[in-house]
Amino acid sequence: MKTKILEPTKENITYAGRMLAEGGIVAFPTETVYGLGADAFNEEAVKAVYAAKGRPSDNPMIVHIARASDIGQLTPRLSGDIVALIENFWPGPLTMVVKKKPGIPDATTGGLDTVGIRLPDTQIARELIEAAGCPIAAPSANISGRPSPTKAQHVIDDLSGKIDAIVKGDDCRVGIESTVLDVTGDTPVILRPGIITAEQIEAVLDKKVEIDPAVLKQSTDGSLKPKAPGMKYKHYAPKADMVVIEGQRDKVKKEIERLKGLNEQLGNKVGVILFEEKAFIEAAHDFFARLRELDKENVDLILAGALSDIDGVGFAVMNRMLKSAGYNIVKV
Ligand code: AMP
Ligand code: MG
Repeated sequence: MKTKILEPTKENITYAGRMLAEGGIVAFPTETVYGLGADAFNEEAVKAVYAAKGRPSDNPMIVHIARASDIGQLTPRLSGDIVALIENFWPGPLTMVVKKKPGIPDATTGGLDTVGIRLPDTQIARELIEAAGCPIAAPSANISGRPSPTKAQHVIDDLSGKIDAIVKGDDCRVGIESTVLDVTGDTPVILRPGIITAEQIEAVLDKKVEIDPAVLKQSTDGSLKPKAPGMKYKHYAPKADMVVIEGQRDKVKKEIERLKGLNEQLGNKVGVILFEEKAFIEAAHDFFARLRELDKENVDLILAGALSDIDGVGFAVMNRMLKSAGYNIVKV
């Protein structure tokens, strides 16, 4: 298949919207990462997205809408919490998992009776969904298991020839995927951490927010079953081996230098990922792009410094970093 690469002009967005309405699959920019979209109500189109990505079919997709009021097409009822979260965080990088309406195909929700919904914060995404005239199911526009795409070029590298079109846009502002929040029960539960933190959600709802224990514990044993099916899969893996070095900042820096030297002596090409201390927003923005750069440089080993003080945004980045490294951690 020839993939059309489209500049985000009004005509092209209308054209790409028509492709989506007719069952095509189209990648587009959002503020988190690039998404690969299909009509959420079209089972065949949704299946084509799974096929293009090589994504396991039990991993539900997030459904993207163009206006908050469109949420009524997907869920039978709104709670006070849902309304407050919409008012405070949409458009933006918060996905809400809610009870689904029966018309949504099982393929879209991985057979669950809930659906994850989000209103993205880029005009291109919203105009495209509007032009399609239907909610758009969209996982990240990468080959499953590879780092998420934060630049149009990443999508071209992974999916060119496998999808109908790519609408190009700016590099993604946030750089990591949305916070996924289950709001089906009384206590909201974070299933995937993101740039919108538990603390911010607690401030809006004036109640305690839980974090799925599987998200917290994965780093040590992996025995818990995550409630977001996607969280159990190997993720974001660079081609190189990767090690996360954790500990006090100076010691981490020293250990990275030591390991780099040792491995280079053995003839290995070594890449380093070390963000400024507490620069969590920048780390989120750059992390996936940095992994892909190092892949392009064909490094054999990536040494990454763990972020310190990891709650909030730092916690969300560390969640990705540990997965990329396959929980390969050296403590100093
Ligand atoms: P991606 O589309 O690659 O950003 O991944 C979407 C993430 O949201 C995966 O971890 C999914 O498992 C999770 N997710 C989407 N919908 C649901 C749902 N209805 N229930 C639980 N997790 C969900
Ligand atoms: Mg993904």
